[in-house]
Amino acid sequence: MADLAGKLGLIVGVANKRSISWAIAQAAAAAGARIALTYPSERLEENVRELAAKLENPLVLPCDVTKDEDLAALAASLDREFGGLDFLVHGVAFAQAAELSSPFVQTSREGFRVALDVSAYSLISLARVAAPLMEKRGGGSILTLTYLGSQRVFPNYNVMGVAKAALEASVRYLASDLGARNIRVNAISAGPIKTLAASGISGFSSILQVYRERAPLKRNVELAEVADAAMFLLGAGSRAVTGEILLVDAGYHIVGL
Ligand code: NAD
Repeated sequence: MADLAGKLGLIVGVANKRSISWAIAQAAAAAGARIALTYPSERLEENVRELAAKLENPLVLPCDVTKDEDLAALAASLDREFGGLDFLVHGVAFAQAAELSSPFVQTSREGFRVALDVSAYSLISLARVAAPLMEKRGGGSILTLTYLGSQRVFPNYNVMGVAKAALEASVRYLASDLGARNIRVNAISAGPIKTLAASGISGFSSILQVYRERAPLKRNVELAEVADAAMFLLGAGSRAVTGEILLVDAGYHIVGL
């Protein structure tokens, strides 16, 4: 497993103990990294603080990714407390409930804007504030989380599929932009996992069941398996990998029928 001893990481997207970002935070901390977690609102602050208390010497900071002032304050706090950054995990996504249950053709202008802003643009804005901190450490690794709904149609995934397509394209453009500064940008496209965000998608349990039946490995993926793949993309083992979308889905994406 990756050695992240002495590394400094920012993980955005922990809501509760089932969050993919929390699994990654635990694995990164176990590999020796010092972790900063964020919370987007006062409502989630206590949850995040309780989880952070399980880590060694964590930093907990506010950050609603839709607010530029939060991003600026986050960068300033990280600079002051960490003095640099080795990795960033972006595990943020949101779409309004109506957009995840109505026919896609009914997607509203506002629903489209919100989903793309929170779920895709936020990778660009976070990368922009993280990059100068990573340069101070000689480079870094940025990792986001995506889903196959970016390329294929899944019932009710709707505008989130469009947001994930934008997110994956952003991974490639950011990788190209930041590569000269030794900053790598990659994504894990995870198979479905029952989390808070997933519970917003109508009929999500039937997606889980179809994966179990049809994926080559005949099962769903677990949080720890996504976290293990994340350790590869955050660590030195992937030092020549950038702009990549790594499918961690028990092989489901290769199946035609
Ligand atoms: P989750 O609900 O635990 O995580 C989503 C996070 O986004 C939450 O922590 C939430 O607080 C955060 N968030 C929402 N709006 C925000 C804002 N304005 N500012 C800051 N943070 C905000 O669910 P998850 O499934 O762990 O999702 C993490 C990522 O993994 C998402 O990008 C999701 O699309 C992706 N993903 C999930 C699955 C799955 O099946 N669960 C599969 C593939 C990819």
